[in-house]
Amino acid sequence: MNRRLLLKLLAATTVVGCGPRATAGKKLRVVVAGAGIVGASIAYHLAKAGASVTVIDKQGPASHATGGTFAWINATWAKTPRSYHSLSQDSVASWGSLHQELDLPVRWGGSLEWFDNEPRQEKLAAQIAEQFEWGERARMVDAAELAELEPNVDFGGATRAGYSENDGTVDPVLATQKLLLAAEALGASIRYPCELADVSLQDGKLVAVKTSLGPIKADKLVLATGAQPDAGLRFAETDIPQRSTPGIIVTSKPMPRCLNRIISAPGIHLHQRDDGRLVVGEQEGAPQDEGHMLRLAARPNHYPNPIVAKQHAVRMFDVAKQFAPCTADAVVESVRIGWRPLPVDGHPVLGASPARPDVYLAIMHSGVTLAPIVGQLAAEELMGNVSIERLQEFRPGRDFDLIKRY
Ligand SMILES: Cc1cc2nc3c(=O)[nH]c(=O)nc-3n(C[C@H](O)[C@H](O)[C@H](O)COP(=O)(O)OP(=O)(O)OC[C@H]3O[C@@H](n4cnc5c(N)ncnc54)[C@H](O)[C@@H]3O)c2cc1C
Repeated sequence: MNRRLLLKLLAATTVVGCGPRATAGKKLRVVVAGAGIVGASIAYHLAKAGASVTVIDKQGPASHATGGTFAWINATWAKTPRSYHSLSQDSVASWGSLHQELDLPVRWGGSLEWFDNEPRQEKLAAQIAEQFEWGERARMVDAAELAELEPNVDFGGATRAGYSENDGTVDPVLATQKLLLAAEALGASIRYPCELADVSLQDGKLVAVKTSLGPIKADKLVLATGAQPDAGLRFAETDIPQRSTPGIIVTSKPMPRCLNRIISAPGIHLHQRDDGRLVVGEQEGAPQDEGHMLRLAARPNHYPNPIVAKQHAVRMFDVAKQFAPCTADAVVESVRIGWRPLPVDGHPVLGASPARPDVYLAIMHSGVTLAPIVGQLAAEELMGNVSIERLQEFRPGRDFDLIKRY
């Protein structure tokens, strides 16, 4: 048996009991707050495991980060240390099975990534070598292979790039809707707009949640509220410090196939979905000047008017065109500002609040990548009242100042 498989088996079986399991005959009642891709996956896996699930969202499914994400499914070099990488790797594999189980809009084909200066290219080669050691189908490819893999891309003189063959992308909005529909088919109830306002406790135990549509009885509450900064403190008495950053995502109308894979070029990311839509994301965040800070203070998801939105789309497509001239024909369909739910140490937060054990937090970046595994493991912990060993370092009570190579 190889080491990876052994670790996987150990991780899957190392669980610690934390009290009684959901008793036979009485369904565990779980309210999931947040109908982004993370909440939707947790709701689906809980419903599949036999819980009585209610999903609430203050706006609607995929209305926040999930509606404004680049949606690259990966376990590439940025996912460190090894434990976080391995969680991401397993989630990429879980996308494979979930994709088939629910016919989700996933497109496989891998990613190509390169930089515009030699020192960074050297570092990339070292990172790709580490990825390979960690079990990824990742390797550096030369100019001849690049031309074969992506005939429509101009690599700007780069003679090599990192090729991560396992990577894929998904239409995150459609995937969220499908997960919610599948949860609903298993008996879950989906309510929106419905805002979580408070929790009702009796002798320290959760008995209900208070919402804008009235109270809902609950044994457990899952906070999958994304980048909302105060949710942890308000509902779980646990602060989850976040450094949410904005990113612009431009989507085109469907067009003839132009790209086969995810392209991570200097300054820009792009891919083309199965439905022909191009998705373009900027690598840089917004400028830190005062004007931007003021405009972004309210965390808008849209620009104040279509003219400004178009200016940003044109600016991004101007960069994209340098690498993929075929994108010159793209017609912009939507421009979104997404806010990353990003715990300050860069790692996911998953697990019961130390102060309110009936409230389970699920707040993370790379939530598109992680949604399947997080859904599975969270459902396992909540249904079995167990603590899964491999999740210990991602708990909400950890020291967020301790940043482990990210
Ligand atoms: C620009 C950008 C690019 C990204 N690229 C990638 C990528 O390539 N790959 C990747 O894996 N990840 C990527 N991410 C991260 C990924 O999109 C997020 O981690 C993921 O979408 C988070 O999903 P979520 O369900 O946790 O949060 P969200 O989608 O934000 O959902 C949270 C939901 O909670 C609801 N909510 C909040 N408060 C309440 C309340 N009090 N009551 C009821 N409902 C409430 C909101 O309305 C919202 O719908 C990117 C993110 C951004 C912004």
